[in-house]
Amino acid sequence: MKRRFMEFMAGRYGADQLSRFLLGVVVVCLVVNLFTRWQALYLASLVVLGVCYFRMFSKNYAKRSAENQRYLEATGNVRGWFTKRRNRIAQSKDYHIYKCPSCGQKIRIPRGKGRICITCPKCGREFEKKS
Ligand SMILES: [Zn+2]
Repeated sequence: MKRRFMEFMAGRYGADQLSRFLLGVVVVCLVVNLFTRWQALYLASLVVLGVCYFRMFSKNYAKRSAENQRYLEATGNVRGWFTKRRNRIAQSKDYHIYKCPSCGQKIRIPRGKGRICITCPKCGREFEKKS
């Protein structure tokens, strides 16, 4: 069964960021549809799902790849913002982020070292903070 699927998928485009995004849209639409029972939303999500399958089973690599590239370029800023937030949250367990009072440079300080004197690497200003 697994081998058959692999043979079927050989030479086909498969999943990429755009199709994963489209699947997410389908899931959100279906969940919203559970509560609202909007027939149009249900049909729209089926259409998007169809597009998603069409893209995954497509053998036209160049066209699908170009579509994905356009999607990545169009959403780069939004995805970057989310990545930044996720990294900030992951780091906040181990680090404090302080801003230099004179130049505004962000400085990352390890937590749990008590009161320490911080020297700004950009302007050289020294200030004291609790780490
Ligand atoms: Zn500074």
